[in-house]
Amino acid sequence: MSSTKTADLHTDPSLYSGVDVYAVAGNPIAHSKSPLIHQQFAQQAKQAMHYGRLQPELDGFAKVAKAFFSAGGKGMNVTVPFKLDAQAFANQVTQRAKLAGAVNTLWIQDGKIYGDNTDGRGLVADLLSQGVRLKDANVAILGAGGATRGAILPLLDAQVKSLHIANRTVEKAKNLTRLFDTDKLTFSSLTDLPTDIEVIINATSIGLSGDTLPFAKDMTVDFAYDMMYGKPSAFLDFFKAKNAKTSDGLGMLVNQGALSFALWTGKQVDLTNFHF
Ligand code: NAP
Repeated sequence: MSSTKTADLHTDPSLYSGVDVYAVAGNPIAHSKSPLIHQQFAQQAKQAMHYGRLQPELDGFAKVAKAFFSAGGKGMNVTVPFKLDAQAFANQVTQRAKLAGAVNTLWIQDGKIYGDNTDGRGLVADLLSQGVRLKDANVAILGAGGATRGAILPLLDAQVKSLHIANRTVEKAKNLTRLFDTDKLTFSSLTDLPTDIEVIINATSIGLSGDTLPFAKDMTVDFAYDMMYGKPSAFLDFFKAKNAKTSDGLGMLVNQGALSFALWTGKQVDLTNFHF
């Protein structure tokens, strides 16, 4: 491969003859848990696989992805900030990736690059596996970025009663509601949430500090979910103190990974008692 960075990260497929090579691409990427997660999936599914990390320059995703697939790479997970680049790089993307506006999973088949998005389905799978009732529930999601956009269709498919999108920049939330042909979607600023929310999801990219929480002091929900993981969450603490059930986003990461793994290998992994 041409990029020394990719070789440094031990992801050059030509170094792994006889083993299918996959990778996660992001910038930064050193913190990514995906290699560990996929290593466990591979063990469980008895799949010979090497899964590495790639850190393209911020304007260099296509070059690195091209080199990876040209050298024999089979598939790639894509994370911040390259999900739009991945969508542009793919020759063909699924309808749900088009609606999500981003691609987090790439693979090669017959010389053609395909793209899909498993983030939103991973979120819903994690919520359901934790016993959260989505059917007929009033759900709110904070943020109107890529993660929220990808979650809308899977949440609607889970038959929520209503889905409210609250965002700092209200116009962006409004624009998202216009992409979907349903009257279940509503929007507002972060400070103007409906009062009947049962499930609330934080999909903003900030770890909200206690000082900046936008909610009314008397707001309650049954379940609060923060897509962020690995850091303390004032958002979860706020609802925990009101006896809501809570979860961080690690399960979403694992579930979106399992869906990618299934797309690549055709094998479903069993996530019951999955630890890493
Ligand atoms: P993004 O596209 O950059 O969107 C960021 C969102 O956060 C926007 O709605 C933005 O509001 C809001 N925001 C940023 N700073 C803010 C602030 N200071 N106050 C209020 N709102 C603020 O990011 P994304 O890709 O949607 O990701 C969102 C989060 O989800 C990240 O923490 C990411 O790590 C997490 N995530 C987790 C998983 C998982 O597997 N667990 C998967 C995907 C994403 P404006 O529109 O007003 O700028």
